[in-house]
Amino acid sequence: MLTALRQSDAVKVLARESERIDKPFQCPTCNREVTLRKGQIKVHHFAHKPPVTCIRGRGESEQHLQAKLAIFDALRLESNVKELEIERDFGISVADIFARISGTPVAIEIQRSVLSASEINARTENYHRLGISVLWIGLQAQDLSTSKYSPSAWEKWCHATYYGRVYYWERNQILKVVHFDPYHIEVPYSTWYEDGSEQSAGGYIKTSKRWRSPRLGVPVLISKSFRPVNRQNWTGGTVVVPQCNVYLDQQEKWWT
Ligand SMILES: [Zn+2]
Repeated sequence: MLTALRQSDAVKVLARESERIDKPFQCPTCNREVTLRKGQIKVHHFAHKPPVTCIRGRGESEQHLQAKLAIFDALRLESNVKELEIERDFGISVADIFARISGTPVAIEIQRSVLSASEINARTENYHRLGISVLWIGLQAQDLSTSKYSPSAWEKWCHATYYGRVYYWERNQILKVVHFDPYHIEVPYSTWYEDGSEQSAGGYIKTSKRWRSPRLGVPVLISKSFRPVNRQNWTGGTVVVPQCNVYLDQQEKWWT
């Protein structure tokens, strides 16, 4: 977590702007004392003392903290971004970033691997109830320039929710946007002869269950490229999408 309450004046402060002399610091969710971690290499942050039972900050990797801080810093510079807040508490969850962008309230959630599908759906539904659009952003773990990519359950969920688009943090407030095409495998028909030799005679094309072909769109800016869209609930295979407000980029489909 990048923020905590400074106990002396109950102000929410960024770890980056805090010093150890300002302690004690307190977690706004569980009210327990948290430790300021300032290092040379890592992103400055606050950490619970073990045993950690609180959900705030759970499963945040170094890359997660970096992305959150970089998006926050970039959005601060934009004149159409108001009410910007990092780590805003919405009861059942803490949004990584909240802002009103050109009048639209938007919760930005950066992927963390500890979140289950049901938690992701619960957060998304909660934002819908509050009239807030949600933008889920992935952290790239695999090379997207390949033609053969195995999306995680989370990426499949985003792809279904965002009408065939998945967003990945690149830098500042710039996101990559990817569509996954089906990946086809050619399965040859084979004939075996009595001497054990094999001959291929044509074949057929089947769609891989595991693999997809990523197709990159034009990179997008959080403060400029998006609009809110009401998404109806939908179920397909193992993917369940609740009714929600998605924050969707406006570029035309770049796939067929
Ligand atoms: Zn806590």
